[in-house]
Amino acid sequence: MQEAKAVLQDNKLRITKNRAEVLGVFLNSDIALSNQIIEQELDHIDRITLYRTLKTFEDKGIIHKVFDTSNKHKFALCVSGCSDHHHEDSHVHFECEKCENTTCLNDVKTPNINLPKGYKTSTIEVIVTGLCSNCR
Ligand SMILES: [Zn+2]
Ligand SMILES: [Zn+2]
Ligand SMILES: [Zn+2]
Repeated sequence: MQEAKAVLQDNKLRITKNRAEVLGVFLNSDIALSNQIIEQELDHIDRITLYRTLKTFEDKGIIHKVFDTSNKHKFALCVSGCSDHHHEDSHVHFECEKCENTTCLNDVKTPNINLPKGYKTSTIEVIVTGLCSNCR
């Protein structure tokens, strides 16, 4: 909880119980989290509050959206380099076919894609599917 409060402070966010709790769930997790998982974890927080809290964190560069192959999204903590309305999460995401967990592979950078003339990249999403180290 102390760590969550420090992160909120660093990002100049007012510390509220809900924010600290939601952030705490992320700080204790190795995998990307869906709204449903967080709702189960913190069943006293209503859906709208959770949605707004996640949006605030995303805007602040604390968490980033992680898409999976079913095109739903989850969220995961940003490592560094992310700030207000600016994300630099240029790493690959891994989706396990067995446990269906999605993980940030923070050390695996997304490859450069050479686009045809006239096109400009804004984001590159790379999802690798397979078996995670727990399921192998
Ligand atoms: Zn980010
Ligand atoms: Zn797995
Ligand atoms: Zn990620």
